[in-house]
Amino acid sequence: MVPYEIRVIGDPVLKRVAEDVTDIDGALVKLTDDMIETMYAAPGAGLAAPQIGIEKRIFVYDLHDDTGPHVLLNARITESRGEWAFDEGCLSVPGLSWEIVRPNEVHVTGVDLEGNDVSIEASEYAGRVFQHELDHLEGVLLIERLDDDQKRSAKRAVREMLMGRSAAPQPGLSFN
Ligand code: ZN
Repeated sequence: MVPYEIRVIGDPVLKRVAEDVTDIDGALVKLTDDMIETMYAAPGAGLAAPQIGIEKRIFVYDLHDDTGPHVLLNARITESRGEWAFDEGCLSVPGLSWEIVRPNEVHVTGVDLEGNDVSIEASEYAGRVFQHELDHLEGVLLIERLDDDQKRSAKRAVREMLMGRSAAPQPGLSFN
């Protein structure tokens, strides 16, 4: 399969709130397989369905902890604690990253591909991946998590990135 094209900042689908998945069927399993392939091809640590233009509460992730790729449906953060600063990037804002402070620990609930309820405690890197992908399901890009000073320079950097892409696409740039 050819990996999906990953939507880039400016695409309105990235600003929409995704809808819950109601049916787990063969088409959904195929979609998540293709999302995992797209995530690895990018490469990234996570990929949310809106990033490939699908407005559903689905994301895939691989925390590089030898447990392989995972699929989480209808995920929500039910609790968060602490603070952690991390240099964060996004496949939909290619080539750019910023130090962003977010809660360190999160409790995430959702459903797996077998329809089982899932409850996950995650901190630091894992916690960040979940918060980042959850944001995509709410139509929020990491740019909105920047402080005011960062936002000013980020606007210019994003504009230059988008101009550079239209002049000469650079598929080699990789962020999750
Ligand atoms: Zn992202």
